[in-house]
Amino acid sequence: MSHVLAAVAWPYANGPRHIGHVSGFGVPSDVFARYMRMAGHDVLMVSGTDEHGTPIQVQADADGVTPRELADRYNRVIVEDLHGLGLSYDLFTRTTTRNHYAVVQELFEGMYRNGYIVPKTTMGAISPSTGRTLPDRYIEGTCPICGYDSARGDQCDNCGNQLDPIDLIDPKSRINGETPKFVETEHFFLDLPALAEVLRQWLDTRDGWRPNVLRFSRNLLDDLQPRAITRDLEWGVPIPLDDWRDRPDKRIYVWFDAVIGYLSASIEWARRSGDPEAWRRWWSTDGEGKDARSYYFMGKDNIVFHSVIWPALLSGYSGEGSRDGEPGQLGRLNLPTEVVSSEYLTMEGRKFSSSRKVVIYVRDFLERYDADALRYFIAAAGPESNDTDFTWAEFLRRNNDELVAGWGNLVNRSVSMAAKNFGAIPPVDPAGLTEADEALLAVARAGFATVGDLIGRHRQKQAIGEAMKVVAEANRYLSEQAPWKLKTEADKPRQGTILHVALQVVSDANTLLTPFLPHSAQQVHELLGGTGVHAPMPVIEQVDDLDGGPSYPVLTGDYTVGARWESVPLESGRPLAPPKPVFRKLDPSIVDEELARLAE
Ligand SMILES: [Zn+2]
Repeated sequence: MSHVLAAVAWPYANGPRHIGHVSGFGVPSDVFARYMRMAGHDVLMVSGTDEHGTPIQVQADADGVTPRELADRYNRVIVEDLHGLGLSYDLFTRTTTRNHYAVVQELFEGMYRNGYIVPKTTMGAISPSTGRTLPDRYIEGTCPICGYDSARGDQCDNCGNQLDPIDLIDPKSRINGETPKFVETEHFFLDLPALAEVLRQWLDTRDGWRPNVLRFSRNLLDDLQPRAITRDLEWGVPIPLDDWRDRPDKRIYVWFDAVIGYLSASIEWARRSGDPEAWRRWWSTDGEGKDARSYYFMGKDNIVFHSVIWPALLSGYSGEGSRDGEPGQLGRLNLPTEVVSSEYLTMEGRKFSSSRKVVIYVRDFLERYDADALRYFIAAAGPESNDTDFTWAEFLRRNNDELVAGWGNLVNRSVSMAAKNFGAIPPVDPAGLTEADEALLAVARAGFATVGDLIGRHRQKQAIGEAMKVVAEANRYLSEQAPWKLKTEADKPRQGTILHVALQVVSDANTLLTPFLPHSAQQVHELLGGTGVHAPMPVIEQVDDLDGGPSYPVLTGDYTVGARWESVPLESGRPLAPPKPVFRKLDPSIVDEELARLAE
């Protein structure tokens, strides 16, 4: 057994998430975490909503609410959506907890002490008419990179690049249209060049990463510049230094605080578990966490934060860059084992866009379709290593031809026939198994090594393909053996053997598919007469902030129960549940209905 951290990208709490988001960070991380737990590892899966920064402040201003109120609203929506998908977080929290603030400030202070965070005089905007600082969000101009004419002072929403207000071409105040004046002001910068060498050495020891992620990360090291980590903004974590912590107009930049969430959420989980030091088993380089592995899941637009920025923060805090230093009070902290980045999902050939309504939100999807139907599509046809298009026609085909006609049909016909003729798991004929029986059982057993290895190496598309091959083999076996033709009393022992073998393979295939399809796996387990939890599910709990802030909902769960990653021999004579279909066949008319919704 080993300790495995599944660190999942933090969805931004400025709106509901669409299926493109969850296909990048959500479902793949859950498949991985579920498999690793089933294989006996001690998994900690954490994430939460990312709630600071200008976009939330801007939207809150527009809606006439406080940023906290806006974040509260979408934190809850996102928690419910991830719950609906069955994503098995040990803790899904948020960045507005007091625990998170304290951990962010601890990392900031540790890096500052070690000399990796340095003050720098830059040019900041003030309003010429009032003489007051103009927060970044109130400055608008043309993006110097892509030419978009409504870029904000800190970021261009068109090309996604981070900016400084002074970079904007023709900057204007959004309050009164005047041209801001730029005066000297002080901000804090992360000294990335002082950490470049340690990052390079670390990247050189990484193997097994997707080649494009490694290449991209290495290239980033060639041109590392100090990067501003504070902004002119009121909404965020205060700067934990004397003369700064009480300033209302300067805050830590959202990206700096959000990546620290992996650590703060682990600490929060430990504090809630009753053993406040338990997080160290996944994080402490010098202690019990030294053999732990950590896997970070995200879309490709977030690689830089996970393969450069976050390891830089961890190294600086641990005192490991060119300026050396001492670890802070949390001790030396583990760098990521692997950064697992997915590509983009598009929708009917177009980029997802909430504003252009090229979108399907998780919630709307789950109102009309089952979670496992989406999980199946994402695993079998998602953007694992290539940009991938979601089309309703392909979703329909995958659901009806593969899930329903393949897996659902195998479950349905084997369970129904056994229930009707035996009422229970039939016994094996004392005459023994035929070569065909043995061959099929061997295929299913071999699946555990093959499928498990592929999931462990983040090749989920291939992994689910291998599991579905077992299903196809079993369907072929049933067609060839045709147990429905064995009608006489003399035929009965052989019919029982065939059905016993088929049900055993259903049980094995169900275990192989459990990380991908946990909801239906539980149902199939029960159809086979199984009791108890087969695939544990997350729950939403309303919790108190540990340090006196407002209460909030979290996703959590007990995942110590459930199936193991192994073939479990079925007991003859175990009663079978009354058969009922596990998957819903969809009417082809949904394609036109959904396309009409998109066009609205
Ligand atoms: Zn731009």
